[in-house]
Amino acid sequence: MKIKTRFAPSSTGCLHIGSVRTALYSWLFAQRYHGSFILRIEDTDIKRSNNEYIKNIINTLKWLGIMWDEGPYLQSDRLTLYKDKITEMLDLGHAYKCYCSIDRLKKLRLQQISCGLKPSYDRKCRYNKISSNDQDYVIRFKNPLSGQVIFDDKIRGEIIFNNSELDDLVIQRRNGIPTYNFCVVIDDLDMEITHVIRGEDHINNTPRQINILKSLNAYIPHYAHVSMVINHDKSNFSKRKNACNVLEYKNQGFLKESILNSVLRLGWSYHNQEIFTIDEMKKKFSLRHVSKSPSEFNFQKLLWLNHYYLNHIPIDNFLINQLKKNLQKIDIKYSNDMNFTKIIDLMRSRCNTIQDLAIQSRFFFEEITILNIDVIKKYLFNKHNMILQFTYDKLSIIKDWNSSNIVDILKSMSKKFSIVLKNIFMLLRISITGSETSPNISVIMEILGKIKTLCRIKKILKIS
Ligand SMILES: [Zn+2]
Repeated sequence: MKIKTRFAPSSTGCLHIGSVRTALYSWLFAQRYHGSFILRIEDTDIKRSNNEYIKNIINTLKWLGIMWDEGPYLQSDRLTLYKDKITEMLDLGHAYKCYCSIDRLKKLRLQQISCGLKPSYDRKCRYNKISSNDQDYVIRFKNPLSGQVIFDDKIRGEIIFNNSELDDLVIQRRNGIPTYNFCVVIDDLDMEITHVIRGEDHINNTPRQINILKSLNAYIPHYAHVSMVINHDKSNFSKRKNACNVLEYKNQGFLKESILNSVLRLGWSYHNQEIFTIDEMKKKFSLRHVSKSPSEFNFQKLLWLNHYYLNHIPIDNFLINQLKKNLQKIDIKYSNDMNFTKIIDLMRSRCNTIQDLAIQSRFFFEEITILNIDVIKKYLFNKHNMILQFTYDKLSIIKDWNSSNIVDILKSMSKKFSIVLKNIFMLLRISITGSETSPNISVIMEILGKIKTLCRIKKILKIS
């Protein structure tokens, strides 16, 4: 039997870390066993569904490279199929129309709660055959009254539910739209899904879905319920604390590789390996090693991973274009004749994200407009002006502008004025980058070029 998995998000929100993990696990599982992976969007909740969310789902998966073999299917396009199945179930006596008013159901619920009972539908319309032309009804599934539903969860092991605890599930609402739980079952059946990998919040739906499948004499897929994702401080994964929209990480200059690794390792491990290539993920992923416990999302670890990838991927057009995009985002105008490769090579080891890289490299692209006089004064020492002027003159006669020639000049200045080299470096660093910290200043001067470097030194000469 060909393995078939699916990812079935609802289009009522952006994809967050937890849902991306479900997508990744489902995709990897299909990849590992040469199966296929289906994208299906659950958009039957008309009030809360939104096309923007559908776009977000598709764009997030595309960005991460979690590509589907079939789909995206929209449940709203498949209503006829669900309706036909519902008619079939009514005909076979597996479902019935419930004419109970909302008011009656509300009262029943309050009554049950006040008696300390778990609220559930009392099956009034299942036992009392009503023939009515009233269109105000829901359709309910006739859940078996006795026996058990047992399934072997691929992550959690055997899970048992007593049918006596399950009420008769609504499969079609008053507005004629089939319910989520029903559509899911029919879709999984129709699309021949073999493995349903999803969040643990669906565990309670599973026995009901299995009962529906059994009533249709259908194949029962394997189920794997992934634990929930919590914050590093053990609090619930809240939308406020983390980017609830994974695509937001892309905007912040994260690389897809670090998101994939971070998400993969939420509850899955393989010996002590921390970092996986996509190919390794596909070869090594298994449901057996997925943890039952809640998984911690650690933003610091994501930063660490992103730093790793930022420093290990080749400096090619992709990275250069990403830097340019991030420069644009912070309104920095760049000229294409700057040596982007050298800038990235010099700066990336101090950056966690491409956004960082843009911010920290800004002095290459724009003039230092706000010089902090206090910072400058801190490093001014006796005769600094004369030394800077001398250095300026010497630098201006360099013919071959490279860092080694620059360092030679600076060394000679250090000797001539008996000042430690690092103080001369600091003077130039402040003049050229506007900051007290930077990578090797002579390399910066080389990349910046002779004209711009001398211009910036001259500016300092004027104000100090
Ligand atoms: Zn009823």
